[in-house]
Amino acid sequence: MLIIKDIDELKRVRASMEGSVGFVPTMGALHPGHLSLIQRAKKENERVIVSIFVNPTQFLEGEDLEKYPKKEEADLKICKHAGVDAVFMPDAAMMYAKDEMSVTAPQVRGYILEGEKRPGHFDGVLRVVLKLLNLTRPWRAYFGKKDAQQLALIQSMVRDYFLDTTVVPCDIVRDSDGLALSSRNVYLSSEDKKQALSLSRSLRIATKMISSGERNIETIRDAMIDELSQYIKIDYVAIVDRRFQSIEQIIIGDTIILVAGFVGATRLIDNIQV
Ligand code: AMP
Repeated sequence: MLIIKDIDELKRVRASMEGSVGFVPTMGALHPGHLSLIQRAKKENERVIVSIFVNPTQFLEGEDLEKYPKKEEADLKICKHAGVDAVFMPDAAMMYAKDEMSVTAPQVRGYILEGEKRPGHFDGVLRVVLKLLNLTRPWRAYFGKKDAQQLALIQSMVRDYFLDTTVVPCDIVRDSDGLALSSRNVYLSSEDKKQALSLSRSLRIATKMISSGERNIETIRDAMIDELSQYIKIDYVAIVDRRFQSIEQIIIGDTIILVAGFVGATRLIDNIQV
């Protein structure tokens, strides 16, 4: 497995790769959620490139950029074991020029929910993903549904900028209690973890109500808020269609339910498609 820290080297390696190339961008501290993306890329492509880059432009002032978990050695082991061909690990100075061109998320879909709570976050995500897709020129790029709004915006960027890659959405991997895996879960104490389980529990409450025929969004939101407010500081509970537009009532097959909240100082998100 090649470990690439330099952009020119990545370009050379990519140029030498023949056939299908799958790409999995990550910020490292890899867990089985990331691994599921890598394994899918491996299954569907002849070559797989993974990037590990804690992208500064997607962190807001006061967020956890400095203390974001880093596990370089373990990450490389996971990649090697999974049969990854190349891991790209640039540093920030290499990825960004001073006063460079920018990409901004669409004004509506990029500035609601996560984008409203973390203004500018998606601009940073799209900037780095555009750079990484240009460098790796993958046939397929793999993203988790865990970051549902991010995934939808990346799909839009690929469409709007005519990028020659297929975005492959991958299912959320959860632990046995239902907690969606996240690199940030390492911040949680065992007590925090119990509180954090209310996120996935609230989504299960919603899906149960929907299975029993409930279609009213306010009724479902209220039940979720009742559950969540006992355990976490809610950031938002939202029910939208798959394009992140507001809806009057649940539409089976085209609805996404999203939650975000703080367990202590740790901000967690989760969602489910119905
Ligand atoms: P990150 O390292 O947090 O930037 O995540 C890199 C990629 O892994 C993104 O496409 C995430 O959506 C995806 N991902 C993170 N956690 C999970 C999970 N629990 N299940 C599936 N995909 C995930």
